[in-house]
Amino acid sequence: MADERRVVVIGSGPAGAAAARELLQNGVPVTMLEAGSVLPQGLLLRLGGRNLYRRAPPVCEEAAHSVSGDPKTQCLVKLAPGGLSNCWTGAVPRFAPEDFTEGERLHERFRWPITYADLEPYYDKLERSLQITADPRDVPQLPGGYASYRHRIPADWQDVEHAANRFGQGFTTYPLADGPPNLLVRRGTAFNSYTSIVRPLLGLPHFRLETGAHALQLQWSAAKGKVDGVLYHSRHKNTTERLEANAVVIACGPLGSAKLLHNSTSSHFPDGLGNSTGLLGRFLHDHPREWWAFQMDRPRTLLSPSAYLTRLPYGSSAPLLATSWTLGVASLQDRIRSRFALKGTTVGVQILGTMIPSEACVAKPSSTRKDEFGLPALDVCIHYNDEEVRNVVRAREHLMNLMAAAGCRATLGEVVPTLFPGTAAHYGGTARMHTKREYGVTDAWNRVHDAPNVLVCDAACFTTAAEKNPTLTVMAIAARAATRLAHDLKHA
Ligand SMILES: Cc1cc2nc3c(=O)[nH]c(=O)nc-3n(C[C@H](O)[C@H](O)[C@H](O)COP(=O)(O)OP(=O)(O)OC[C@H]3O[C@@H](n4cnc5c(N)ncnc54)[C@H](O)[C@@H]3O)c2cc1C
Repeated sequence: MADERRVVVIGSGPAGAAAARELLQNGVPVTMLEAGSVLPQGLLLRLGGRNLYRRAPPVCEEAAHSVSGDPKTQCLVKLAPGGLSNCWTGAVPRFAPEDFTEGERLHERFRWPITYADLEPYYDKLERSLQITADPRDVPQLPGGYASYRHRIPADWQDVEHAANRFGQGFTTYPLADGPPNLLVRRGTAFNSYTSIVRPLLGLPHFRLETGAHALQLQWSAAKGKVDGVLYHSRHKNTTERLEANAVVIACGPLGSAKLLHNSTSSHFPDGLGNSTGLLGRFLHDHPREWWAFQMDRPRTLLSPSAYLTRLPYGSSAPLLATSWTLGVASLQDRIRSRFALKGTTVGVQILGTMIPSEACVAKPSSTRKDEFGLPALDVCIHYNDEEVRNVVRAREHLMNLMAAAGCRATLGEVVPTLFPGTAAHYGGTARMHTKREYGVTDAWNRVHDAPNVLVCDAACFTTAAEKNPTLTVMAIAARAATRLAHDLKHA
């Protein structure tokens, strides 16, 4: 197979893995550069469809980044094969069709250049390899998907489902890439993008994986009018290497990808590749997240797998302001009791809220700090505004009202103070996609407007944030972009 079609994919997390697999399936040779060297260990014991013991490897704070917005901001990374999927929970809701369009109510800049219909085949394909436990039926604001293992919310929660429906919401099983009902593995998660996707590709003749290979810079060739190489630091050899590339897929996570593009300066692009309109790194967003528990006046079946209360309807909500609620068990004791279908009165809740992406929240090169390679470190400037915080606080009250509407007296417990950026590791937006260059760094096929043979395939490309966990949508977008890239390379 012609090596001149070789694509360099940077990062082996869910985004890079999904893109690499799609490229290879479409006959395009791939070299993957992965900064991490060692697959972290963990332990997961699942019996009868419930996780009985789970020890995920620790997530790390990226020490090289500085923060200049909310001082409590966290920048969580896992520089390892599989990236953050070594540590993730595995919640994989699809975005709803309106999640791609509702921002338009505010301004044209918040309209995605892709639709739900564009992603639907990729959602379906990916769900088949994620081994998901879910209820496959559509509910308001959450399209159903393919479920390897079907699960319905317990019968004694149906009054809550009916109350949710009266508010125009859905109440269903939280779709989770949790693997088969019985599982014992030496990793922290059932699905890990390295073990589940990348490792099976290693036997293919046109796939090469370089671990310990930290990408430093994309090299722009003025003569060719495109990026034609990647500089990376090899941790194994302690040298700087250059890899020829016909096209590059960046999937370092939204902060890492922004940093790589910022550091890819040249005489053509002195402010970084993809930054000719000054948008690179801007519109950084995240999920304001909160944890708390509530007590019910009578016991119900313990929610394991967890249940998911979908956002309020688009028509009755302020544009781009939403929350989702995940209801589950609140203690290890209840997790064990749930194995025996016992009832309980305590419910643990996680709320994910949204931010309205703004230019003021930005991941930019630090003017003072350098990273370990002597390149400018990344400065992460993000904070939640009052409305975004109020939106999450209102969500507590809403769930209590909904429980009351279901005939249940519920008492709110202590709220764990996590309302600062980064705790969910759901950053996005730093290389947002938009049809117009004035509003986006990348186009509808994830190609950098300035350099169309470079694709940014992680959540950096998100035009807006839905209140849903991002990874399934990230993977679907990456697979779609890779299919188009493969087509273009074959027909160039
Ligand atoms: C505790 C926890 C729970 C989570 N739960 C969920 C959940 O339930 N559902 C959900 O949707 N999301 C969840 N997430 C978020 C989810 O893990 C991420 O959205 C997802 O991993 C993003 O995939 P990615 O490929 O874009 O980035 P990453 O997973 O971060 O992968 C990036 C990869 O790029 C590599 N890399 C970075 N920089 C370079 C470089 N310069 N050169 C070479 N390689 C580089 C990294 O080593 C890594 O392998 C969770 C995260 C955490 C921490």
